[in-house]
Amino acid sequence: MEILKTILKRFLKENVIESKQKLSDSAYRLCIKSEAIKSVDFVPGYFLRVGVGITDEGLSMKDFVRSYSVWNIDQTNGTIDLAIATQGNGPGANWAKQRKTGDTVYFRWKKGKFLIENSADSYLLIGDLSALAHLYMIRRNLTKEKQVESILYSQHKNELYADIDGSRPFDFYEMPQNPTGEIISKIKEIVPTMTGRKMVYIGGDSRVCVALNNYFRKELHWEANQIKTKPFWNPDKKGLE
Ligand SMILES: Cc1cc2nc3c(=O)[nH]c(=O)nc-3n(C[C@H](O)[C@H](O)[C@H](O)COP(=O)(O)OP(=O)(O)OC[C@H]3O[C@@H](n4cnc5c(N)ncnc54)[C@H](O)[C@@H]3O)c2cc1C
Repeated sequence: MEILKTILKRFLKENVIESKQKLSDSAYRLCIKSEAIKSVDFVPGYFLRVGVGITDEGLSMKDFVRSYSVWNIDQTNGTIDLAIATQGNGPGANWAKQRKTGDTVYFRWKKGKFLIENSADSYLLIGDLSALAHLYMIRRNLTKEKQVESILYSQHKNELYADIDGSRPFDFYEMPQNPTGEIISKIKEIVPTMTGRKMVYIGGDSRVCVALNNYFRKELHWEANQIKTKPFWNPDKKGLE
């Protein structure tokens, strides 16, 4: 395992936690600083593969790395903010709980496809606590004239934290896990109010991503390029990329 840690340290970038804050009962903010952040060619929607197993002892291979979206970036000061939900209670959650100001963090950048796209006129953003930071980043980077609707849910509404600037631009709902039926009822109310070319972002629970992707394609007949989904976690798997 020490060999793996040495190899991972070589591939992942080394950074320092500048500050840590509890956002709600189930989420932490970590502000990470490094010179390299100043020169990253950043696109909103990028995420990090964080080597949680490098600093936490006793983790198996599959628990070595977890993905976290960039919630905010300040390239003048060389900082990024992550918002980490702890509901999974796994290695990622424990890593976030235990981190302190001054600790070293190892990560590598990932681009993916769950990125900002300004080609539509109206947007619907749907997700749970794990996807909230990512969807805040997307919303802040949509041009001002866009219509933005939202369905952000959690089992306890007070777990859903405000955006980095203290604003609360999303509609928050208290819903059970995997609430596809409830979300579809809301979609039926919202979609008729959306104007021009429409686009939906769906992030978080993989079951919700799959069910809603089917709903938009098969029931609402949206084109594939109007639907952006990214499963962040799956009840039968650990640490999705
Ligand atoms: C592209 C991408 C970006 C991501 N960005 C973020 C982010 O910005 N913030 C963030 O908090 N997470 C994010 N995630 C999810 C994150 O990578 C971890 O999967 C999550 O933190 C759980 O890790 P864990 O080690 O605590 O639990 P794991 O060991 O992965 O899982 C333990 C158990 O908990 C369940 N579980 C995991 N997450 C949840 C949950 N949210 N609610 C209920 N049960 C859960 C799992 O199904 C599993 O049964 C992202 C994932 C991807 C793929």
